[in-house]
Amino acid sequence: MNNKSLMDAFIVFLLCSALSVALTMAVCPRCDGTGEIECPYCDGTGERTVEEGAVCEHCDGSGTLNPLIIQKSRSSHLNDGKISVQVGYENEESVNIFGTVTAAVEVESKTYTGTSSRTLFPANENTQVSLTISGISSEDYKTLEEQQVFSTSITLETDDVPCPYCDGTGLAPATIECPHCDGTGYIECPDCGGTGVEGGEQNEALDIGGTTYGLVAVAVVAGVAITAFVVVKKRGVKEEDLKKMPPSEFQNWVLKRMDGKSASQSDVRMGIDGYTLGGQPVSIRQEDGVGREVIEKFAAAMGRRNAKNGTLVAFSFGADAIRGRVRAKMSYGFDLEMVTVRELIESRNRPL
Ligand SMILES: [Zn+2]
Ligand SMILES: [Zn+2]
Ligand SMILES: [Zn+2]
Ligand SMILES: [Zn+2]
Repeated sequence: MNNKSLMDAFIVFLLCSALSVALTMAVCPRCDGTGEIECPYCDGTGERTVEEGAVCEHCDGSGTLNPLIIQKSRSSHLNDGKISVQVGYENEESVNIFGTVTAAVEVESKTYTGTSSRTLFPANENTQVSLTISGISSEDYKTLEEQQVFSTSITLETDDVPCPYCDGTGLAPATIECPHCDGTGYIECPDCGGTGVEGGEQNEALDIGGTTYGLVAVAVVAGVAITAFVVVKKRGVKEEDLKKMPPSEFQNWVLKRMDGKSASQSDVRMGIDGYTLGGQPVSIRQEDGVGREVIEKFAAAMGRRNAKNGTLVAFSFGADAIRGRVRAKMSYGFDLEMVTVRELIESRNRPL
């Protein structure tokens, strides 16, 4: 323990007093000193469900159900110059389906058919359909009577129904790895910047940060339980302020937040406002309700720059934006991340 260190400590103490900030000893209360918190975007599961993030497997994305109705039985008998046909079906879908059944019999290269009336196949139930094939010439009828067996071909034609599993959208929820925590379920504690010490990150903003750390060492060596972290309540940026910012200033704020860099003039004309640390395009919209049109324009710009991933930043996204993202993924294989300004404000260390 030397006097110089003590002197340093004292100077820091004075400095802090002069700045009217408090000296407290504290482990970051938010993360209990671990430097990590449970990822708030996935509640620590490491997974996120993206509504309409995948193609509906029941209708292959068409939005129209091709219902699964299984034929369970069939029988045909000759009866008074006609053929009566009975077919048993089981509707495997959870919705009622209407359809008609057609049966055909071929006699000496002539085909006779009969079609049922429009029939209801109730959801998950068995249904018997009866129909009659008539108009058979007496000669052909005789031939059928002489034959021991004859074959009937049966076809079921169903009405189109909007896919009940996706409400006709053709899209289904998908589970993806949470992009905020890379599937780990934890993110760096935003209160302490991962240091585990209260005010840890804020200190970096102060010039005296280095000196205060020095003071910790002194305090520990001296066995004195004083603490050494300067707690400064930094006024957070508010969404409203960002909405009112001049556009170029807003873009700079976003790029700084993402550790990104700005784009060239030709990129900007194309719709790319900057690049992430990893060199992927970023489009920045100082608007609410950004929708599919914007996404598709950005996807086109990404294509021209041969980028496979991109990030779109806006205050909020419209309901159709997710569909635009799915489309970009399906048509061009692009991965688009939609990040809200709120997410940027709230999470300090996003790996983008
Ligand atoms: Zn569907
Ligand atoms: Zn997460
Ligand atoms: Zn913390
Ligand atoms: Zn995100």
